[in-house]
Amino acid sequence: MSVHPGDMDEFLNGRSLLSRPFWAGCFEGMLRLQQCGRCQLNSFVPRLNCQHCGASELAWTEVDRTGSLLTFSTVFMAPPRFREFVPYTVGIANFGGAQLFGVVAGERPYCEGPVVFVSGRDAAQALGPIPVPFGFALA
Ligand SMILES: [Zn+2]
Repeated sequence: MSVHPGDMDEFLNGRSLLSRPFWAGCFEGMLRLQQCGRCQLNSFVPRLNCQHCGASELAWTEVDRTGSLLTFSTVFMAPPRFREFVPYTVGIANFGGAQLFGVVAGERPYCEGPVVFVSGRDAAQALGPIPVPFGFALA
């Protein structure tokens, strides 16, 4: 996977049809989540039914890329693909009521601190050489 995809088709190659709106948003520097037409809550990961109420009326919506870091941990022992980047920080952040897991860029993150969802070319700039399509930058 390239961190600097040349075009969206290349970036979407291999992604599931269900998750493509999320990934297309990432390519365009946006955060898109599924919002339930019944309970109005947002969900992640992409799914067929609302994780909160089970309704099937899910529509993609763009949400604010500013979120809150719920927890984080610094990785010192990584899988082979990421071994050259240790130490690095990963965390779970809340965006529009949905929780996403990703790499956290920047020094001294803190729980409940503000983060910005970065993706596409912004991710490459914020996260450096770590080969991930999105992550969180300290706000
Ligand atoms: Zn719902």
